Amino acid sequence: MQKMHEALGISVDYAKEHRLPLCREPENLVDTELDFYQRPQKLTHDAFKAWTSMKAAATEQGISLFLISAFRGLQYQHDLIKRKLEKGQKIEQILMVNAAPGFSEHHSGCAVDVGTLGCDALVADFENTDSFQWLESKASAFGFIMSYPRDNPVGIDYEPWHWCFHSEGK
Ligand SMILES: [Zn+2]
Repeated sequence: MQKMHEALGISVDYAKEHRLPLCREPENLVDTELDFYQRPQKLTHDAFKAWTSMKAAATEQGISLFLISAFRGLQYQHDLIKRKLEKGQKIEQILMVNAAPGFSEHHSGCAVDVGTLGCDALVADFENTDSFQWLESKASAFGFIMSYPRDNPVGIDYEPWHWCFHSEGK
């Protein structure tokens, strides 16, 4: 991983500066439904179960929730950052939006990026949707917590669409 960080120009102090925990890739991933773009996705067994019940509860109340992204491996995160560097973005800018490989919650197989009908994917505007309001009041009952609220201590931009399953219900 160190080599991967070096190659991307990520500071050796990254973990310390961002106070982000290292996320290990789990072994018990299961296939979820296809995401909004009809791509296969994976989550841990427990996270998938929780996501499925949450989605069903939302649907029952007329709220649409769908997966935009779930598990992503180290290599995926590396390639994503590399593509942005190649497009001319600076590593400091990229790291405000994407965690360094090894530190993305998506590695855990417990994080989901959530979308809803009538809202673009992965935009702060998601916070103005009924779905976001529903998640704010109901998601914790299913074990999902919004990881990156405004002004979060780990220095990641506000991500109202990114929710992570915590098995202890934290
Ligand atoms: Zn995310």
